[in-house]
Amino acid sequence: MRLRTRFSTPATVTEFFAAAKKPFSYNVLRNSYIWFGLFWGLPIPLVTLLYELRFLRSTNADSSSLAVFDAPLQWFFLLHPLLFAIVFGILGTIRQEKENELGLRMKQLRQMAIHDPLTKLKNRRYFAHIFHDECARNLRRRETLSILFLDIDHFKKINDTYGHHQGDVVLRELGAYLQRQCRPYDTPVRWGGEEFLILLRATDEKNALFFAERIRQQIEAGISPAIPFPFTASIGLAEYRINDTLEALTGRADKALYHAKQTGRNRIVAWSSVPEESHP
Ligand code: GH3
Ligand code: MG
Ligand code: MG
Repeated sequence: MRLRTRFSTPATVTEFFAAAKKPFSYNVLRNSYIWFGLFWGLPIPLVTLLYELRFLRSTNADSSSLAVFDAPLQWFFLLHPLLFAIVFGILGTIRQEKENELGLRMKQLRQMAIHDPLTKLKNRRYFAHIFHDECARNLRRRETLSILFLDIDHFKKINDTYGHHQGDVVLRELGAYLQRQCRPYDTPVRWGGEEFLILLRATDEKNALFFAERIRQQIEAGISPAIPFPFTASIGLAEYRINDTLEALTGRADKALYHAKQTGRNRIVAWSSVPEESHP
C-alpha cells in the first residue's frame, strides 16, 4: 500500500509571512520587538570587529585593511542587528495580533457570562455581582432602591398553544420592552425562565408601584405586534432595607410575587402589603 503524505505549510510559517507583509512589523515607534532584535543582534558584529582589531594590533597591520569590510560573509555578520530587528519585528506583530485576538475573546466571554442570549438582558450572575456595589452606593448616597420580580402569567399555556418558538418571541419582546421602560441607571435582568427582575435605583416602594403598574397595564394592552395574542404578568416588589442580603431582598420580592399569583394574577403586590402571617 502506498502512503500518500500531503505537504502542508505549517501554520506558523504562513503566519510568519503574513505578518511580514504588515507595516507594524517595521514600525520602530510602536513595535518594541524591533529594538529588542537590534540589541540582540548587536554583539555579533561587535565581537567580529573586536576580534579583527585585536588580530590587527597583534600583527601591527594597518587598520584600513580590516578584513571585515572585504569579504561578503563578514558583511553578513555586520548586518546581523538589522536581520534580527526584522525577524523580531515580525514576531512582535504575531504576538501583538495574538494578544488582540485573546483580548477580544476575553471581552466576548465576559459579555456572554453576564448576558442572557435570548433577551440580551443582563443575567442573574451579573445581578449577584453588582448587588453589593449597588447597596454600598445606596448607603453612601442615603438613597433607597427597590426591586421587582415580574413573572408572565400562564406562560406554559402560551408555549403549549402557540409553540415554543412563539414563547421565545414573547420573552424576547418583553425583554426589549422592559429595557425601553427602564431609566439608563436601572437594571432589568432575566432571572430565569419567564421571570424578570428589575432593579430600580433611587426608588422607594411607592414610586416602584407606579412604575410596576404602568408596565403591567401596557403588557396587558399589548407591547409588540410580534405577539398576536394577549398575555399578562404578575409583579412582586420589595424595597431595600439596610444590611439586606441578596437572598433577603429577592426573597421578599419573590414572596410578594407569590401573593400576586395567589390572589388572581395580572396584579402587583408590594412586600409591605403581604399579610403578616406570610412574613418569615
Ligand atoms: P404562572 O402563572 O403560575 O407563572 O404559570 P406559568 O405557566 O407561567 O409557570 P410555570 O412555572 O408552570 O411554567 C413556566 C414555563 O416557562 C415552563 C417552561 O417550559 C417555560 N420556559 C422557561 N424558559 C423558557 C424559554 O426560554 N423559552 C420558552 N419558550 N419557554 C420557557
Ligand atoms: Mg409564569
Ligand atoms: Mg415562573
